[in-house]
Amino acid sequence: MNLPFIEPFKIKMVEPVYMSTREQRENWIREASFNLFNLKSEQVTIDLLTDSGTGAMSDKQWSAMMLGDESYAGASSYYNLKNAIKEITGFSYFLPTHQGRAAENVLFSTLVKEGDLVPGNSHFDTTKGHIEFRKAIPVDCTVDVASEFIVWHPFKGNVDLDKLEDVLKTNPLEKIPLIIVTITNNTAGGQPVSMANIREVHNLAQRYGVKFFLDSARFAENAWFIKTREDGYSGKSIREIVSEMFSYTDGMTMSSKKDAIVNMGGFIGLKDEDLFRQASAYNIIYEGFITYGGMSGRDMNALAQGLFEGTDFEFLSSRIGQVAYLGSKMKKYGIPILEPTGGHAVFIDSKSFLPHVPEEEFPAQSLAVELFVEGGIRSSEIGTLMADRDPVTRANRFSGKEFVRLAIPRRVYSDNHMDYVAAVVKNVYDRRDSITRGFRIIKEAPLLRHFTIELERFGGF
Ligand SMILES: *Cc1c(COP(=O)(O)O)cnc(C)c1O
Repeated sequence: MNLPFIEPFKIKMVEPVYMSTREQRENWIREASFNLFNLKSEQVTIDLLTDSGTGAMSDKQWSAMMLGDESYAGASSYYNLKNAIKEITGFSYFLPTHQGRAAENVLFSTLVKEGDLVPGNSHFDTTKGHIEFRKAIPVDCTVDVASEFIVWHPFKGNVDLDKLEDVLKTNPLEKIPLIIVTITNNTAGGQPVSMANIREVHNLAQRYGVKFFLDSARFAENAWFIKTREDGYSGKSIREIVSEMFSYTDGMTMSSKKDAIVNMGGFIGLKDEDLFRQASAYNIIYEGFITYGGMSGRDMNALAQGLFEGTDFEFLSSRIGQVAYLGSKMKKYGIPILEPTGGHAVFIDSKSFLPHVPEEEFPAQSLAVELFVEGGIRSSEIGTLMADRDPVTRANRFSGKEFVRLAIPRRVYSDNHMDYVAAVVKNVYDRRDSITRGFRIIKEAPLLRHFTIELERFGGF
C-alpha cells in the first residue's frame, strides 16, 4: 500500500479552539456592526480571516528568537537576516520594515509621484491604497481568464502582456516609475504567475526602461506552482526557482507574515545601490535605522529561519495541499468556488452562492456573516466593500467579483478543522434560498474602508 501524505511536522504546543452557541454568535456579530474585523478572537471558532501573521512558528524559530541581538546598529540578527535574504532571493541590498505595507510605503515614497501609473497584475489592497494615497493610479493588467471563475488555467495570476505593453506604449515613460507584479496574485484568488510570464514582463520592462518589482508575500507558494505546473521546472528545487524569479527584477517588497511564517515583519530587497541609498532615507524616517527598521533583533532572527522553512518543498506541499483539500470537499458539496484553488485560500463565489442578494447589498459580506453565525468561522470579504469607492467619482466599485475568502493559516489547523469548515459552508448553502437581503453601510473610512466599516442588516436578525 502506498503510504499517505503526512504533514512534515508534529505539534509541540497547542491553544484552545473556542466553541460557542448560535445565539452568542448572533449577539457578537451585531455588537461588531457586522464587521468581522471587530470580533474578539475568543468569539471565533475557526479563524480564516487571513493567513497573514497567523502561522505557527517552529521550535527552531522560537530558539532563534532567544539569540536575538537587540543592538540598535549592526546587530548579528540583522546580518543573519541579510545573509538569509541574499541566499534565498539573491538581493544584495535590503531594508527591514515592520510589515509589508511599510515596505510599500518606503519604496513608493522613493519612486511614486502624483499622476504616475503603476501597472502590474492585480494590486493587493494596501498596495493599491499606497499608490492611490499618492494620487497615482494602479493599472490592473491581469489576464482575462482570471475572472472566469471555474475555467482551469495553471497560471491565472499572470499579467496580460498586451495590456501591459499598451500602458507602456501609450503613456509617457517618466510617468511609469515601476511595474509591480504580485506573486501569488492574491486579489485574483491566490493564483500563481508563471516563470515565463515573469520573464516576459522583465523583457518588456527592459525594452521600455521601466523598473520591475515583485510584491512577494507568497513567493514560495508561487514557486511551488511553477515547480508542479510549468514545463521545465519539475526537476528544480524551490530555492532555484525562487532565485530565478527574483533574478528578472530590480527588487521586491515582502510581507514576511505570509511565506516567511513569522507573526510580524517585512522587508525590501534591492539590486541597485543608488536606489537602496535613496530608500534608506525614508526607511529611517518611517521605520527605524536601516539595520532594524521596525523589527527587533529576535524578530529578524525568526524571519531569517522562516525564509528557509517557508521555501521547503514538503512544507509547501502540505500547505497548498490542505487548501486544495478544503476546496475539493466544498466542490463535492456543490459549493461554487474559484477554481483551481490557489496557494493560501479557498474563494467562494458569493454571487452564485447567494443569487437573491442584490449587488448593492454586498453578497460576499452577507455570506461571510452567515458563515460566522452558522459555525463561528471568520472569513473575509473580497468584494465591493474591499474594492473601496472610486477615488474620483466616489461611487462604489462594483466589479462583479464578490468573493468570500477562507484563508488558511500555516501549520495551524488540521484536516479535521477543514472538514468542519466545509460542513458549516454546506449548511449555509442548504438554506441559501432563505437569504434574500444583505447590508447597508452606516459608517465608512475614505480609504481601506473594509477594516473599520459599520453595517446594518436589512430585516435585522
Ligand atoms: C499582506 C500583503 C501585503 C501587505 O503586507 P502587510 O504585512 O499586511 O502590511 C502586500 N501585498 C500582498 C500581496 C500581501 O499579501
